[in-house]
Amino acid sequence: MTAIRIGNGYDIHRLVPDRPLILGGVKIAHKLGLLGHSDADVLTHAIMDAMLGALSLGDIGHYFPPTDPKWAGADSLVLLAQVHELVQAQGWQIGNIDSVVVAERPKLKPHIKAMRDRLATVLNLQPDQVGIKATTNEKLDATGREEGICAYAVVLLQLSV
Ligand code: MG
Repeated sequence: MTAIRIGNGYDIHRLVPDRPLILGGVKIAHKLGLLGHSDADVLTHAIMDAMLGALSLGDIGHYFPPTDPKWAGADSLVLLAQVHELVQAQGWQIGNIDSVVVAERPKLKPHIKAMRDRLATVLNLQPDQVGIKATTNEKLDATGREEGICAYAVVLLQLSV
């Protein structure tokens, strides 16, 4: 068995009025929020899919189906903790995470530290193991037109010692 595994994840959610904007477990003041069955935390979802993907364990839709009322309005950090338990139960630990959030607005830079701290706390990591970058889409395509926010993540897992 190789001692490291890598996974990647992607997610996108639509921006709509009258919804909170939650990214990396941090609520960010904005006139629009992300639509979804759970709290629609697109960054946390991308990270979860990367963690699952690293072990070929399927995707978050398999574990938390959007048709299940149990996950309506769910705090994605709770779901993240469950995926982390699954990973740990198989004998793996996170080496590091790197991610990108693509959002035209709002400016995410002031919130990056809080997001890293929040995710690191839930995953029992140091903040420097959780990379979060933010970019705009240069006004191109759906994210550039502020119709949605998407996120990409990669996660490196290593065997627990
Ligand atoms: Mg999602």
